[in-house]
Amino acid sequence: MIQRTPSCIEARNTCSEPKLVPVTPAEPGWQEILSRSITTPSQLLSRLGLSVDDWKAGADAGHALFPIRVPEPYLDRIEYGNPHDPLLRQVLPIDSEAQAAPGFVSDPLQEDAAIAAPGLIRKYKSRALLMVTGQCAINCRYCFRRHFPYQEHRLGREDREKVVDTLMASPEINEIILSGGDPLAANDRLLAQWASLLDSVPHLRRLRIHSRLPVVIPGRVCSELTDWLSASRLQKVLVVHINHAAEIDSATRTAMARLAKAGVTLLNQSVILRGVNDNTTALCNLSEALFDAGIMPYYLHAFDPVTGAHHFDVSDQRATELVREMQGQLPGFLVPKLVRELPGQASKTTLDLGRR
Ligand SMILES: *Cc1c(COP(=O)(O)O)cnc(C)c1O
Ligand code: SF4
Repeated sequence: MIQRTPSCIEARNTCSEPKLVPVTPAEPGWQEILSRSITTPSQLLSRLGLSVDDWKAGADAGHALFPIRVPEPYLDRIEYGNPHDPLLRQVLPIDSEAQAAPGFVSDPLQEDAAIAAPGLIRKYKSRALLMVTGQCAINCRYCFRRHFPYQEHRLGREDREKVVDTLMASPEINEIILSGGDPLAANDRLLAQWASLLDSVPHLRRLRIHSRLPVVIPGRVCSELTDWLSASRLQKVLVVHINHAAEIDSATRTAMARLAKAGVTLLNQSVILRGVNDNTTALCNLSEALFDAGIMPYYLHAFDPVTGAHHFDVSDQRATELVREMQGQLPGFLVPKLVRELPGQASKTTLDLGRR
């Protein structure tokens, strides 16, 4: 979900003296990194030097409802020993996850009602979501899809024909959004097959990818990925998902530069989250860091009332106030649109910022 930007990365990294490059052992591939992710409360706490007495019980309770999953490259960006780290907050379950809260439900977006074909969700006129995998590289505690029955909607080989038939019969759809789960958790062979199938639907113009993987494991942007992207006749857009400037490191910037070079327009969507980015400084720093990485801010999502995540809730009044403050500090193109998805609407709904 991002706009194309010139990459200012290479220029910044140039150095006048050629340096001796040490011989490094072969880097593990992204799938191996993914398979070595931390997946238990004890591992997470000990890796980050956090007190078992303070955090273990809550982590266990949340983990039982929605398992922990954090790959190493993301852990690397979390400050050791800091329980308030904004990246940690996104991945560490706490005791309030197990508590019910009034108004918080398991399917706030009512996506169950919009299935057009197996794995194809269509709510808006010109674009539809294709759920290529139910897997994610990271389990975000606030995820509005944490209760979504992915296994029931995941695409099988036999469903491809039905999807293509549906698309052929729907000339108003000009854009397909690869979604999930995280679509880039699928392997490139499968994704390349989808891309070439979609290429063959004449009225499609754009292929969009909604993914958090290039941030979570920057090594995901490998040559196999850029190869099939470059080969597609469709215009490519990646909407990455970054909530805090500290998620962007040099590896992320390199990954983004590779995608830009493969002809991909880069956009970002964030969720406003209490304790992560609910202050003007964090949001402005995020926009600046995104632009540095060649990514344009696209959406800032108002919080969806999903069960188990009420401790992240930021009121609409506070969210609009924050975006007004961003407007006072940033050029217009670095201020994301504050939106919410309301069931039954023809598009996302922009929150009214009121008068300045
Ligand atoms: C958010 C969403 C889209 C994309 O909306 P844009 O405003 O085009 O970014 C498409 N389909 C569904 C079902 C969505 O939830
Ligand atoms: S990567 Fe996206 S879909 Fe997966 S858990 Fe995080 S927010 Fe949810």
